[in-house]
Amino acid sequence: MDENIIIEEIDSHREDYIEFFRELIQTKSYNPPGDEMNVAVKLQAFFQNNDIKCEVFPFGENRANLIAHVNKNFDHCLLYNGHMDTVPPGPEDEWRYSPLSAHIRRKKFIYGRGTTDMKAGLAAMAISMQILKKLNIQSDKNLVLCAVGDEETSGILGGLWSVENVLKARNIKSDFCVVGESTGLEPLPKAIIVGEKGHVRIKIITHGIAAHSSIPFEGKNAIYMMSDIIQHLDKLDNYLPNVPPPIPEEKLKALLSEVFPDKDVFEKIFNEQPILRNFLKALTTLTRSLNLIEGGIKDNVVPEKCEAIMDFRTFPGQTGEMIKNALEQVVKDSGYPLKEEGKNSSEHVYAQIEIIDDSDGSYWEDWEDSELIKEFKSIAERIYERASFYSLFPAASDARTFRNTNYCPSTILFGPGNATLPHTTDEYIEIDDFMRIIKVYTLFAYKYLSD
Ligand SMILES: [Zn+2]
Repeated sequence: MDENIIIEEIDSHREDYIEFFRELIQTKSYNPPGDEMNVAVKLQAFFQNNDIKCEVFPFGENRANLIAHVNKNFDHCLLYNGHMDTVPPGPEDEWRYSPLSAHIRRKKFIYGRGTTDMKAGLAAMAISMQILKKLNIQSDKNLVLCAVGDEETSGILGGLWSVENVLKARNIKSDFCVVGESTGLEPLPKAIIVGEKGHVRIKIITHGIAAHSSIPFEGKNAIYMMSDIIQHLDKLDNYLPNVPPPIPEEKLKALLSEVFPDKDVFEKIFNEQPILRNFLKALTTLTRSLNLIEGGIKDNVVPEKCEAIMDFRTFPGQTGEMIKNALEQVVKDSGYPLKEEGKNSSEHVYAQIEIIDDSDGSYWEDWEDSELIKEFKSIAERIYERASFYSLFPAASDARTFRNTNYCPSTILFGPGNATLPHTTDEYIEIDDFMRIIKVYTLFAYKYLSD
């Protein structure tokens, strides 16, 4: 079939698609608490109306994961994945249009919580299934949608649960997976993401001795202790095993330079625009940022306790334990003992390092050998009328679960919207972007099923 017939079909249903997408935005699924069941019910009705098999898996209070598929066999599947939850909107009066309004501005933009992250991608994936079902392609292959909850919190009850209990348990074999998160990096074109960083959140606690601050030498100031440790943070690198980034900086630079008309233009922009350099630096270094600090109880008391929280963004192979161990060395360099197990904390001067939360980075090693990723890129470039580029991502998504459980290492991120908009007030998406992504997802699935 001619690609143009599918494109015309999509264009002729523009208003229906926008309405379906708006309905998803208007369906509240703020996480916490989640309420993904509200979205799952809408998706289920949509699939039932289109004669597409769909199953909802409830969990917790009004929460759910969902799976849908267009054909019967599961030996070769293209897996589409999106999450149904959104982050909460924050103070609603700061929004120009209510976060659940799905307000359309100048016939060009749709506003609301979850527009970019990621109900546009999710709606487009569901719509692509509707179109493919209608085309009634005879194929031994399958297109499967795995819509999950819990992505904005841990992903354990959503992505991970679905991989273990549905996709693996039912022997659904995926050749390729697309996660529909926004990968627009304005002013750059959209990226095709083949790996992403993990994160480690660490709490540093210093414990001194409280005293009246008129005789401060009686105490041990926990804020000064924290300050000493902060001064020594530069030594961290000495204690961390050397783990290289999955794609070295020079190669990332070369991949990025392909979207520029020539090397000179790229070098000029690269040298003039700090954003590009910072982006590449974030992708090729273990970043760290001390983001919270709290200490002291009163203006005339030497503080007994101080706590700081650091956010590290890691490569695959860098673990929370490695960072914890390195920080413990830094504490020793600063001249403080570590908290000893079982020892009473009163009258004991020490520092303590705790991992609060972590997730591993992930990377699809063999992406350069894949014909499917090339096919995807060529369709994306045709539909967006712009070059695209392969890259890594500084933040984590459910893609890590598909890759790191070895369920489907060949997982990419590619979706509508600008990657700087998720979680912001006045989150929005361009309708044109939404229409184009429907075409990309549909044509790619069409090509996969008919090959
Ligand atoms: Zn997201």
